[in-house]
Amino acid sequence: MNIPENLRVLFLASEADPIIKVGGLGDVAGSLPVALSKLSRKQVNPIANIPSMDEDQVDVRLVLPFHGAIRPSSGSLDLIASYDVPHRDGPILASIFQMKLDGMPVYLISGSPIPEDAPVYTGDNDIDGFKYYFFSLAALELPKVLGWQPHILHANDWHAAPAVYRLGLIRSKDPFYSKTASLQEIHNLPYLGNGAGKQLIEYCLPPAKDSILPWWAQDLPLPLGLLAADHIVTVSPTYAKEILTPEFGSGLQDFLHLRKDSITGILNGIDTKRWDPCIDRQLPATFDSLQLPKRQTNKAALQKEFSLEPDPRIPLLGAITRMEYQKGIDLTINALRMLKDLSWQAILLGTGTPELEEAAQHLQAEFPDRVRTIIRFDPALSRRIFGGSDVLLIPSRYEPCGLTQMIAMRYGCVPVGRATGGLYDTIKDESLGKEATGFLFGDAVPEALAETIRRAVRLFLDPYRWIELQQNGMSQDFSWIRSAYQYFELYLSILKKRGVYED
Ligand code: ADP
Repeated sequence: MNIPENLRVLFLASEADPIIKVGGLGDVAGSLPVALSKLSRKQVNPIANIPSMDEDQVDVRLVLPFHGAIRPSSGSLDLIASYDVPHRDGPILASIFQMKLDGMPVYLISGSPIPEDAPVYTGDNDIDGFKYYFFSLAALELPKVLGWQPHILHANDWHAAPAVYRLGLIRSKDPFYSKTASLQEIHNLPYLGNGAGKQLIEYCLPPAKDSILPWWAQDLPLPLGLLAADHIVTVSPTYAKEILTPEFGSGLQDFLHLRKDSITGILNGIDTKRWDPCIDRQLPATFDSLQLPKRQTNKAALQKEFSLEPDPRIPLLGAITRMEYQKGIDLTINALRMLKDLSWQAILLGTGTPELEEAAQHLQAEFPDRVRTIIRFDPALSRRIFGGSDVLLIPSRYEPCGLTQMIAMRYGCVPVGRATGGLYDTIKDESLGKEATGFLFGDAVPEALAETIRRAVRLFLDPYRWIELQQNGMSQDFSWIRSAYQYFELYLSILKKRGVYED
C-alpha cells in the first residue's frame, strides 16, 4: 500500500505545553506534534530517502485529558462527540472537545474519571489509573467517531499505553484498525504505572498472562504498551541502550532485550523560538554568539540580585532542576563542599524532595558568601540563570534526554553533566578539543563531579578557549525539526515493517 494522502498520526499524551504543562513531557508533547504537522515537502531533508507527498504531509492530531487546569481558557471550545467507554461497573460517558494548537487539531477528553478539581498527576496511581485508562480507551475510540483512520498511534508514557495494548488486542478483528501501527514512547522508564494494575480488569481488559513480560508487569500499563507496540522509542539513543541493562532497566531489561530490534532512541528538541537569548525578555541583556561579552551584564545582575560578590572573574555555577536523587542534586551539594579551596559562586534553583531541598538550603548556610538556594519553580529566574551563569551543573544519575543542557548551550552557559542518556548524546566533552561544548564525568560520586568542576573552572580562566566552548554550544542544532524528520522516517519504516506501506 502507498500512502496516497497525508500520513495520519494519532498522538496521545497526558500534558502538552502551552495547553497544560507539569514537566518535560509537556515540552515534548507540545512541540513534537506541531513540528511534525509543519513538515512539508519543501522542508523534508533531501538527503534522507523520503518519498514526495502532498504539502501538508503529516496530519497529526493531539489528544489530551481535559484536566481541570485547562478549563479557565476553554470558553470557546466545541463539543464534537460523546460516547461510552466500557467499564465493569457500567459504561462511562466521554465527551470530546476540540481546539487548535498552532493550526493542529487538539481533542480534549472529558468524563467523570477526569475530575475538574484533580491535578494532572495525584501521585496515587490507583486514582490516576482510573483517569488514564479512561483517557486512553476514549482516545482510541475517537478516530472511529471522526471517520479518520490513523496510520500511526503514538502513545507517550504509561498514561497512554493502555491504548497501545488495546489496539494490539483488537487489531486483527477490527478492519478500521487493521492497518494502524503503534509506537510506545518512553520518557522515563521507572514510571511504569505501578499501582494502576487493578484498573486493567476494571476497564474490561485481560492481563498479558503467558507473555514475555515478567509476571509482576503483566498488568502494568507501560509494560503492556511496550509488549503490544510495533515499535518503542526512547528520548535519546544512549538511553535506548541503557534500558537494556539491570542498572536502568527497572526490572524489564530481559524483556526489553527480546524487543531490542524494535527500540530506537530519538533525541528531543527544544523550542528554539521560546528559548532564544537574542529576544529573551527576561534577560537584562540579550545577545547572540558574536556578542558574548554582553552576557557579563546578565551575570552582574544575578550577582547583584542575590548579593554575591560582583566580580566577573569568579565563575558562577547554576543549577535548574527538580531536587530529586535522579537529578543528582546531592552530588552537587557534596561536590561543592569539596571545593572550598577554589573560587566559585553557585545559584541552585529547584523544588522537590524535602530532604534534598533542606540539604541545598543547608549548603547556603555553610557558604553564606557564595551559595544561594532558591526553592521555587520560577521560569523567569531560570532564564536569567541560563543567560547569566557561566556553568550549568547537571549530574543526573540517569537522564532519558534532559532539556536543561540544551537550553544552557543555546544560552552560552557551559554544561557540566554526567555521561548518561541524553546528556552523553548532546554534550561534547572538553577533551574533544575544537568540537567541545561542555564537560562530562562518569561515576555518580561527588569526587568525580568535583574533579570535573575543577576542570571547568581551570578552563574558565582561559577566555579564548571558554568562548570557543560557548560558541560551539550555541551553534548546535537542537531544533524540533531535526527530531521531527527522524520520527517521520521512523513512522514510515514501522509501516513498511507491518507491510502496510511500500515506497
Ligand atoms: P525533567 O526530568 O525535570 O523533565 P528536563 O531537563 O527534561 O528535566 O526538563 C526540565 C524543565 O523544567 C526545563 O525546562 C527546566 O528549565 C525546567 N525547570 C526545572 N526546575 C525548574 C525551576 N525550579 N524553575 C523553573 N524551571 C525549572
